Amino acid sequence: MTDAIAVPGRFYDGQSARAHRVVLSVRDGHACLEGEAQRCVPLAQVRVSERTARAPRKLTFADEACFEPDERAAMESLLHATGHRDGSVVRLQQSWRAVSIALAALVLVLATGYLYVLPAGAAWIARALPLSVERQLGQGVLDVLDRHAFRPTRLPAARRTALAQAFARLAPPRDGAPPYRLLFRQSRIGPNAFALPSGDIVLTDELVTLLEDDQAILATLAHELGHLHERHMTRRLIQGSVVTAVGTLVFGDATSLLAGLPALALDLRYSRDAEQEADDYAAAMLRQNGIGLAHLERLFAALQELEEKDGAPPPYLSSHPPSAERLARLRRQLD
Ligand SMILES: [Zn+2]
Repeated sequence: MTDAIAVPGRFYDGQSARAHRVVLSVRDGHACLEGEAQRCVPLAQVRVSERTARAPRKLTFADEACFEPDERAAMESLLHATGHRDGSVVRLQQSWRAVSIALAALVLVLATGYLYVLPAGAAWIARALPLSVERQLGQGVLDVLDRHAFRPTRLPAARRTALAQAFARLAPPRDGAPPYRLLFRQSRIGPNAFALPSGDIVLTDELVTLLEDDQAILATLAHELGHLHERHMTRRLIQGSVVTAVGTLVFGDATSLLAGLPALALDLRYSRDAEQEADDYAAAMLRQNGIGLAHLERLFAALQELEEKDGAPPPYLSSHPPSAERLARLRRQLD
C-alpha cells in the first residue's frame, strides 16, 4: 500500500520493561517494525489505541507487546495514510459539538423528569402506597423528633381536648379527607405545626401559646390537614429519594442515597406550590364552616411579627413562604 511513512518509536515486548528502538512502517497490509526488534504482522491483528487530546496513539499486538511512537503527528499521518478509522463513539467524542449536544440532551431529560414526570409519578406512587408504609414512614420521623426535638406537652389536658374537639367538629372542604391524629408536644424548636405521612398532625405548645386565638389555631390545623389530604409529605419523601436515586445512577455514588434518607425525612420543607395548596385548603375549610378568613390572616400576621422580632426565622417559618407573601395572597383572594 504505502511505504512512504516511517514512524520512529519504542517497542516493548510485553515481557521486560526494556524499550527497543524501532521504526514502524506499513507495507502490503502489514505493520512492520525494524531496528532492535523485528516483526511484521497483518494490520487486522494490531489494535490502535483510541485518540485522546494529548497522548500519542499506541499499537498493541496480539501478544500484548506494544509500540509507542516518539511523536504524535507522524503516527497520525501514518494512520491517516493507511485509512485507519476510529469507532463511531471515538469520533463522536472528538467533537465538542456532539458532546455539548449530548450533555444538553441529558440535562433536558433530567430537568423534564424533575419538573414534570417526577411530581406526577410521586403523586401516583403516594396514592398507590399502602397506608401501612406511610404509617411506618411517619412513625419513624416522629420517633426521631421525640428523641431530639420534643418533650411531652405541658398544655392542660382540658385545653388539648377542647382544641381537638373543636377541630374534629369542622367539616373538611371536600370528601376523602384522611384520618388524622392530633398530637401535642413541647418543642425545642419553637412554634411549629406539621403533618406526618402517618396521619399524625403535631402541634407544639409554643404555637398554641403564640396564637391565643383558637380559630387561628384551627386554621393552622386545617393547613396541616391540607398537607395530609394532598399527601405532600409522602410525595416529597418519594421525590427526594428518586432524585437521589437518579443522581446515584448518573454519578455512580450510592452512599449519598443511603446517607440522605433520614435527613430527607427530617427536612419538613414543602415546595411553595404545596404550601399554597395547603393555604387554599385551610381557607376553603374555614369558609365551609363559617369561620371568617380574618383568623387565617391573624395566623399569618402573628407569624410575620415573629419573623420580624426574631431576625433569624424559627424552623416553622423557614419551612414556609414568608408570612407577608401568604398574607398578601390571602388578601388578593378576599378582594
Ligand atoms: Zn405548610
